[in-house]
Amino acid sequence: MSKTIAIIGAGQMGSGIAQTIAQHGMQVLLADVNLDVAEAAVGKIDKALGKLVGRGKIEIADAEATMGRITPVGDYARMDEAEMIIEAATEKEEIKQAIFEKAGQKLRADAIMASNTSSIPITRMANYSPDPARFIGLHFFNPVPVMGLIEVIPGLATSEETTARTRGFAEALGKEVVLSQDEPGFVVNRILLPMINEAIFVLGQSTAGIEDIDKGCRLGLNHPMGPLQLADFVGLDTCLDILMVLYRTTRDSKYRPAPLLVKYVEAGWLGRKTGRGFYDYSGEAPVPTR
Ligand code: NAD
Repeated sequence: MSKTIAIIGAGQMGSGIAQTIAQHGMQVLLADVNLDVAEAAVGKIDKALGKLVGRGKIEIADAEATMGRITPVGDYARMDEAEMIIEAATEKEEIKQAIFEKAGQKLRADAIMASNTSSIPITRMANYSPDPARFIGLHFFNPVPVMGLIEVIPGLATSEETTARTRGFAEALGKEVVLSQDEPGFVVNRILLPMINEAIFVLGQSTAGIEDIDKGCRLGLNHPMGPLQLADFVGLDTCLDILMVLYRTTRDSKYRPAPLLVKYVEAGWLGRKTGRGFYDYSGEAPVPTR
């Protein structure tokens, strides 16, 4: 029987993680706030796989086999089947804490509990799980099936065995691993979020419009995607949550969120996942909104 991995939080990241793991032959239990949300996420994965079949990237039999390995679940009853539980829920510490405490009751004595958090300290969250030695950060990138990197972040109490097993798991998904110490933002977001935030300040001060800011970074810095479009892909609420964690944990004013980012989040314009952020995603191609 192949490995079983449980994922809690079936949003953009949890769905992508589920798809990737199932495509690599492992069984997936996918949970969210309730069974309906988990089932809807499985429906989206089915659609995503259908698109890959349509484009000739994968065989229909592979798509069907992948779908056959993903089971939506409405509660944590079956989490004791999993060798690893990966939390990929909303970037709020109190939500994650409740998940670790509840799912921890079902964590097998040999299983690892991992968090896909973008910014919340692993060492602190390890205390919400039954065994900090088996708790670790496992930071995927969006969209998970496409992006080639995973950051592995041991907390202070994480055992070497947990780190080695987690690294092996990440590599078994065909990803490259960067090992980061448990510092705010780890490696990539520590660098990325100040850039996204600065781009939003530049927009808020009307120095340039959305298209020109993104074009400037694409052509001037050779980035494949501009920072405002990337922010839409990450989710503007997630960007704000990460900045607030960086700001609160370091007390460094360079991480204060741009007022325009706060406004967009308050408006519910959260980026691609809600159909509107800095770009409007209702048509074929994204259209800048300012
Ligand atoms: P999202 O908003 O798309 O999804 C979050 C999901 O968590 C939703 O489906 C929500 O219903 C679910 N959820 C909320 N409370 C829950 C609970 N108590 N139990 C189970 N599920 C619950 O967000 P996302 O972009 O998928 O981000 C999820 C996590 O991944 C965050 O920690 C984020 O920082 C991290 N992350 C995001 C990105 C990115 O680019 N978006 C990249 C790497 C890591």
